[in-house]
Amino acid sequence: MFVREIHIPASRIRGVGPSTVKLLQNLGIETVGDLLYYWPRGWDDRTVDIPLSRFASASHINTNATVIAHDWFGYGSMKTLKLIIKDQEETTAELICFNRPFLEKSFPIGSSVVVHGSFQWKYGGIQSTSFDLDMADAAPRCILPVYPLTTGLTQIQLRRIIAKAVETYAEGLESELPEKIRNVYRLPTKPEIIRTMHNPPSMADAERVRQALIFEELFLFEYAIGQRSLERRGKLPELPPSLSENVAVSASMTETAGKATFEAGNPDVENPVENISLSPLQTRLRERLPFTLTQDQLAVLAEINRDLSEAVPMARLLQGDVGSGKTLVAFFACLRIIEEKKQCAILAPTELLARQHAENAAKLLEPIGVRLAFLSGNVKAAGRLRLLTELREGNIDLVIGTHALFSGNVAYRNLRLVIIDEQHRFGVLQRAAIIKKGTASNPEKKQPHMLMMSATPIPRTLALSVFGDLDISVIRTMPPGRKPIQTHLARHGNEQKVYDFIRNELIAGHQAYFVYPLIDQSDALSLKSAEEMFDTLRNRIFPGIPIALIHSRIPEEEQRKIMEQFRTGATKILVATSVVEVGVDVANATCMVIEHAERFGLSALHQLRGRVGRVTLQSYCFLVYSQNLTEDAKARLKVMHETTDGFVLAEEDLRIRGPGDVTGILQSGYVAFALADPVRDHELLLEARKAAFKMLLEQKNAGINSSESPPTTT
Ligand code: ADP
Ligand code: MG
Repeated sequence: MFVREIHIPASRIRGVGPSTVKLLQNLGIETVGDLLYYWPRGWDDRTVDIPLSRFASASHINTNATVIAHDWFGYGSMKTLKLIIKDQEETTAELICFNRPFLEKSFPIGSSVVVHGSFQWKYGGIQSTSFDLDMADAAPRCILPVYPLTTGLTQIQLRRIIAKAVETYAEGLESELPEKIRNVYRLPTKPEIIRTMHNPPSMADAERVRQALIFEELFLFEYAIGQRSLERRGKLPELPPSLSENVAVSASMTETAGKATFEAGNPDVENPVENISLSPLQTRLRERLPFTLTQDQLAVLAEINRDLSEAVPMARLLQGDVGSGKTLVAFFACLRIIEEKKQCAILAPTELLARQHAENAAKLLEPIGVRLAFLSGNVKAAGRLRLLTELREGNIDLVIGTHALFSGNVAYRNLRLVIIDEQHRFGVLQRAAIIKKGTASNPEKKQPHMLMMSATPIPRTLALSVFGDLDISVIRTMPPGRKPIQTHLARHGNEQKVYDFIRNELIAGHQAYFVYPLIDQSDALSLKSAEEMFDTLRNRIFPGIPIALIHSRIPEEEQRKIMEQFRTGATKILVATSVVEVGVDVANATCMVIEHAERFGLSALHQLRGRVGRVTLQSYCFLVYSQNLTEDAKARLKVMHETTDGFVLAEEDLRIRGPGDVTGILQSGYVAFALADPVRDHELLLEARKAAFKMLLEQKNAGINSSESPPTTT
């Protein structure tokens, strides 16, 4: 029997009455199975003595002591007992017994006790208000599980209930993992895991079974990913080469795992070929470019071309830092499809970005005969109707637009390739909606190829979990000749120097962005806003220099004009909010000033900075920050100052925000682990993935239908 098959209600446990049932429900516990799988958030090691003298550095104290005095403070109903204790090192401390006057009787002066709790320095002494106190001969000297609680349920009660459940039901439970895997990785049995988690003989045992559980979670997760990929595409996701280099096998529990080798990686990327075979239209585009494609662009193109020639739909994530030239790769991909007389769609998160792509496409693709269309919510009435008809009849090869691309009345003739730019800006459902349009338009109801692009690099550590069922391509190198952007930090109050520097750049014929966290001063916070600073910059700092303001409340049609004027150089300074964050590409802009930089997240800062340095001109980014920075804000600015590598930034971002925030990154519905943390447990994740995929391959080769065989996810 598996744990999840135990449907016995928790009320069957002795001592669990109707009111306790309600409390357990607050914790999500309904059945005995839920109780067995209600993992402690940590353990309290009462076997180790931690004397009072270590109160400041240790998280808690656990020591034998003697009650040497009783004392009272406050009056009437507020009267509170203090027990004064002294431990074997002769350190004294006070136990403040709020609402526990009865402790006076339980622990008379001279009692030999064990005290466990956290202590602070207060009112000139060592004090605790949160402690357990036991007579020395009755004190638990073991490792206690510490569970997440709910109001009304005490740690002691819950420990007792779970201990009872373990005692009665843990025996004989089966593991969700196949025996072969358990043998290879020397994983403990399910009863041993459950018993040890809730009542570990030693901390080392606790850690060992916790690792086993994490491995189990990750294995089942990767198995499900591999299975889904096999079903949908007839193959397992590749391990991107940038990841396979780093496959390190963690020590202890995976000693034997080395044998379980798994061939992964993509030969195309390891030996990029100069002369990859391009299709006729692709060749024509290549010949028309004023520059040569980078090695990485070529390598990715080879991967994409290979995918597009296969029957199974492509599902690929293209990662590349801002300005690395992803859009161009996307255009090349489209040509391959257009030659087969099928349609492509490029979806962008903002009107601004979509329009920019459309303009580039018009320059690059129209001359070689591609029939283009642009569609956004703002394309109205007659024009829209005509466009939709053309799209439906197949007279458009490539449509570029925003969310409008998958709105209700849009239909395609045969949409075979969907490209999603800045994919993190779209929700899972939105991505599904456009894919569905493609499937519906296909005569055989085949799913379209999908290329997701991201300039916010997904940290290596997350790539395997969040995007576990995608193949991943990476553009690492920038087009040649780019100079690293110089990033300077300036404290609020020193902006004048920054403004002087910008003035010189403007005089040299370049352009600048000024970015602010707010649109206007409606906010109570004393932050500079874009509107207010627009006035200041225009009238006081840079009088006479053409300047414009852009933010999300300006009508889109007007935004477009403003951008156009900035692009042509008619406007020299663009004052903005983070609307200019994604994709905007104005080559002549060399300066990015971000005021109140501490208010922006690391990836937003990186994206904003990516608006400059897009050609060979030396570019500059100024991060103006306020006083009283939080530690996190300091860390972010420091990282921005030190690196321009988006991948390093992404890893750092994750580190600063901590793994606790990973759930925010794992788009909802993707992953929910009880114990595993794909970042912290990265090595286990890789190992689990290898093991799961190996097993899937073996099953496939043996002709077993993977969807019928264990393991199954809980
Ligand atoms: P991304 O979308 O990856 O941020 P873009 O596709 O907007 O980057 O490209 C940034 C700029 O670099 C564009 O102006 C593009 O024309 C240019 N570019 C792309 N590939 C190359 C290359 N191989 N050599 C030189 N410039 C390039
Ligand atoms: Mg882009």
